[in-house]
Amino acid sequence: MPHNEISITPIGADAPIAAATHGERAKCLQRLMRLELPVPLGVALSFAAVHDIAGTTAHMTRIVAPFGADALLCVRPSSQNPDWGGPGAILNIGMNNAKMAGLGAVVGARVASLLYLRFIQAYSIHVARLDADLFDSIDPQKPGAVARALAAYEAEAKKPFPQDRTTQLAHVLRSMARAWEGTSARLLRQARGAPADAALGLVVQQVVLGRGKGECGSGVMQLVDSATGQKRTTGRYMPQSQGGAQGGAQGGAQGGDTPITDSPALCLHSRTQGDSLAQRAPQAFDRLKAYATTMRQALREDLHIEFTLQGGAVHVLDAVPVQRSARAAMRMACALVEDGIISQRQALMRIEPRSLNELLHRQIVPDAVRDIIGKGIAASPGAAKGKIVFSSAAAQASAAQDEACILVCRETSPEDIRGMHAASGVLTERGGLNSHAAVIGRGLGVPCVVGASQMHFQMSQQKLIATDGRVFGEGDILTIDGSSGQVLAGQPDMLEPELGAAFQNFLSWADAASDIEVRANADTPADARTARRFAAKGIGLCRTEHMFFEANRLTIMREMIFADDSQDRRATMERLLPIQRRDFAELFQIMQGQPVCIRLFDPPLHEFLPRDSRGLRDLATALDLPLSDVTRRAEALGEYNPMLGLRGVRLGVTVPEIYDMQARAIFEAAIEVRTKAAPVVPEVMIPLVSAKHEVVLIQQRLQAVATAVREEHKTELTYRLGVMVETPRAALRAAEIAPHCQFFSFGTNDLTQMAYGLSRDDAGRFMSQYVQQRVYPEDPFHTLDTDGVGELLQIAMRRGRQAQPDLIFSVCGEHGGNPESIAFCRQEGMNYVSCSPFRVPIAKLAAAQLALAAQPAAP
Ligand code: PEP
Ligand code: MG
Repeated sequence: MPHNEISITPIGADAPIAAATHGERAKCLQRLMRLELPVPLGVALSFAAVHDIAGTTAHMTRIVAPFGADALLCVRPSSQNPDWGGPGAILNIGMNNAKMAGLGAVVGARVASLLYLRFIQAYSIHVARLDADLFDSIDPQKPGAVARALAAYEAEAKKPFPQDRTTQLAHVLRSMARAWEGTSARLLRQARGAPADAALGLVVQQVVLGRGKGECGSGVMQLVDSATGQKRTTGRYMPQSQGGAQGGAQGGAQGGDTPITDSPALCLHSRTQGDSLAQRAPQAFDRLKAYATTMRQALREDLHIEFTLQGGAVHVLDAVPVQRSARAAMRMACALVEDGIISQRQALMRIEPRSLNELLHRQIVPDAVRDIIGKGIAASPGAAKGKIVFSSAAAQASAAQDEACILVCRETSPEDIRGMHAASGVLTERGGLNSHAAVIGRGLGVPCVVGASQMHFQMSQQKLIATDGRVFGEGDILTIDGSSGQVLAGQPDMLEPELGAAFQNFLSWADAASDIEVRANADTPADARTARRFAAKGIGLCRTEHMFFEANRLTIMREMIFADDSQDRRATMERLLPIQRRDFAELFQIMQGQPVCIRLFDPPLHEFLPRDSRGLRDLATALDLPLSDVTRRAEALGEYNPMLGLRGVRLGVTVPEIYDMQARAIFEAAIEVRTKAAPVVPEVMIPLVSAKHEVVLIQQRLQAVATAVREEHKTELTYRLGVMVETPRAALRAAEIAPHCQFFSFGTNDLTQMAYGLSRDDAGRFMSQYVQQRVYPEDPFHTLDTDGVGELLQIAMRRGRQAQPDLIFSVCGEHGGNPESIAFCRQEGMNYVSCSPFRVPIAKLAAAQLALAAQPAAP
């Protein structure tokens, strides 16, 4: 049926009802009827019918026709997606003076008057739009309450309360249609993902009172736990009550309804509390469970059921998908697969990739009280708590005493890597999504909030001043939520990560479904182990510079920087060789024959020198050099963001001793650890290339080292050479670069930085304003700019492929873990993406969903 055809359809098994025209609730009720479940009589109004009704009161006769003249009715919203919300349900339409008297004989005068009163109030507030406080002074338990409510209505509305059911219904329908069009309702649903033209359907349903003789009442039930996803029958039941007053986002059935009853709420099933539905009405309880099982099987979903009992008979009013945490969603999807109800493919499509963050990292418990003292950019997900420390050294000292700490600093740099390792979380004043702290935090799985510039970081006084003026010093307890960007005082309770069987199953299904591989960016053995735990298909980027920051290595690096000539440099590098060889051997061993792509040294050398005068003095003493020499050299090497100077391959060309040493370490490590079962073919990658001759020069040096190693070890050695395409010129000149290498890995962090002329460390200062004002649709350091940077990638791939058809392509910038960016990589035919180890599961699921979405649907 076309979307805009007016349809008023009694809900029956064969009625022409579709979610796309009548909304999800109407469709669900029809499905329940097809299962022959006891669903009260109902009529579905299509989106077009509701729209029409908003302006007229036509069609009333058709709407009420299926119902007995005496029946009380309720109206509930039925939008295309229950999550979009909608107006609350209105119950007991048809209550009037005569009906109250008639009902009194069945359920007692007091209950009948309470039902009428409830309707008068709902009608007055939601339909006639009168003030809610109109009824404040009326005590519903006192005689005469109804008369007083009717009088109050009449005085305020300037007309008597309508007694005719059709008139009441017409006004209810119109008011609900208008409520849907209201500005706040529209904004709310658009915030929940509804399109601008989202429409409302309505369901008019016969009321089941839940009051009277025998077991009467209402409740909700589900067969799984919403927080954990474990199979457990939960819910609540209220004897002598009428449920379902809400009817909004979750059908009013997720608790929070306030049925009129003076009985206490009861558990559905209780061994300890004495009274439960299972004990009061075991047959009804068993029947409900059987219905719930049937629905799960037939509707292929865990459902939250709203029911009413009338004289012991069960009526199913509604069923909506169970609300669920990400953990629960994964367990429930896996259980549905195990029970043969859905396919693995369907399970994969049901989980939002980013929601896996909730399983991979610690989280603050959802209902914790949050004492928020500041906010920054959510840069690395998960929550962490600990004592404040203001330096990397203090973080290491704290870790040595087994005390959790939060490293608070203006920004981090490579020399803070060990402090970041030691800290439970990192909070910085500066930086954006691709700043050092953010990239390393994600790599290590350390929660991180960056760019919290509205807090004051008084580093010299070791004070952190909250946005509300509170002052925090070293040792005070802080919590950061790297998923929301919040900074909190104190330590709310946490949920631990959940990487159980369901999670592992999920990853293997995702692997089987994907057609683009996911590798991990891993710099350390710990990263590599995480990569394997998440079944990454190898290491796509090992940033070797992080290996040089341990005390013994740093000293050698510094000696190399101050060496007088190449011979001296070579001698210092000789001392690093065995250390690097061990680093690489360990990585190769952990990865067991999977590809490992090692990027040769990248950062500028000044990052290895102390920044403050005390550090420079210490260095001068350690090297036995005059302070003035050390200071002069440090100043000469100093670079400012975005560091477009002597780094990357330019260092490889001008200070070749570092690359020579690294190449030898890589090759010797490969020979040392390789076995027949797990041969090691290292991939060596040159960073920051912008000209063919850079590649030619490095290629020649690597070849010379490889030849020497082969001869010394009298053995064969294979390796692959790759170019990191992270300057626009490398992308444009891909045709002449490609013949000299076997793979291109796009360093989209630097490429974005250079394509925009925008430093990734400084972008955080204004990025949110830029995105808010739609200057950029998204932060391009977060989601790949497929127009501009993407065009550079396309050019590089096209030109590279033409020159070298076997070239392998990948992205190893942070975009490799971003689902939208992965879609682009896949569409362009890249071989793999590589991202921080903790983002590997998210990338895998995103890749699987893209591949599945591109396949024809299973029959
Ligand atoms: C990049 O530039 O995308 C990249 C992966 O390298 P880095 O982040 O180390 O500069
Ligand atoms: Mg780079």
